[in-house]
Amino acid sequence: MGIEGKRARAEIISKTVEITATISIYGFVAYRAANGSITVGDFVMYFQAFQKGQSTMKTMLTSMATVYENRLFLKYIFEFLEIKPQVKNAINPISIPELKEKITFNNVSFIYPSARNGQKALKNINLEFKKGEVIALVGENGSGKTTLIKLLSRLYDVNDGSIQFDNHDVRNLNLNELRQKISVIFQDYSKYHLSVQDNIQIGNMHLPLDEAQIKLSAENTGAAEFIEELPERYDNMLGLRFLKGTELSGGQWQKIALSRAFYKNADIIILDEPTSAIDPLAEHEIFEKFRNLAQDKVLILITHRLYNLKMANKIVVMDKGEVIETGNHETLVKQKGKYFQMFEKQME
Ligand code: ADP
Repeated sequence: MGIEGKRARAEIISKTVEITATISIYGFVAYRAANGSITVGDFVMYFQAFQKGQSTMKTMLTSMATVYENRLFLKYIFEFLEIKPQVKNAINPISIPELKEKITFNNVSFIYPSARNGQKALKNINLEFKKGEVIALVGENGSGKTTLIKLLSRLYDVNDGSIQFDNHDVRNLNLNELRQKISVIFQDYSKYHLSVQDNIQIGNMHLPLDEAQIKLSAENTGAAEFIEELPERYDNMLGLRFLKGTELSGGQWQKIALSRAFYKNADIIILDEPTSAIDPLAEHEIFEKFRNLAQDKVLILITHRLYNLKMANKIVVMDKGEVIETGNHETLVKQKGKYFQMFEKQME
């Protein structure tokens, strides 16, 4: 029986008991008053005492139900707090050296712990991302691009194969330091209802506030233009949760999130479709700025707009969890494979 059914049954039973008790008691008191065993004054007193008792009883039961309900919610909180992280620091983690040459994916396969059918999200991935390169990951939705990034940032650990940071397996590196080295702006980036400055500074809370760097980051993404027009500029609250907050458009929020990535100044910068709400021309400019910034970094772009990928050193085409093509824009177009088909479609 469904929850509604159970509830209806409990309600019918409790109401029947309540009505029967009320009628019996009122009946009994009225009968006693009628045959003269009690006075009219007694009758009124019993009547009021019963009413008072009934309402006190109701309040007590309701409070007990509330305590029970809150206990259920608390149980969820404690269950949540007890979840142990699946990705752990190595027993003697290695402090991360500066990336000298490249990041390598060696025969990496991965199945999400929650995957119902045990389907591999990534199959036998072999890739190299060299320092100074701009890498673009392309492919249809669900082809495994974001999963690749999640493994690189160690949000999950690989099931098979390894990811190497120069010649260190990422699982042996200090986890916090690794995450410090990587700046990821995911598709569903956060919109913090805080000031503009805080929104950008959150990109790197480990450094003391550097206002000049915050402004520079906003200029690099073009966010500075609309920030300068806000009533309180960098101190303006964003979002409507707070008084005097300003709601931004999707594209403006994205530029704020991108400024955060600039501000972090990490060694590996990953932009997972962060420019979808920005017009193509502005996207091109932002990519160019990131490219200049990434001379000694690894810049990984995930985007569906292929015409902005001519500047990428390497394009990795993914399909159903596998890498099906790699090369730069020109070679892939010449190859007339999947990339070429996708590119042609966008040019129509
Ligand atoms: P893309 O970024 O190319 O759109 P994803 O890497 O997000 O693709 O997804 C690759 C595959 O992994 C898809 O089949 C998707 O359904 C699956 N997947 C993604 N996230 C999860 C998750 N948290 N749990 C289970 N399966 C997932």
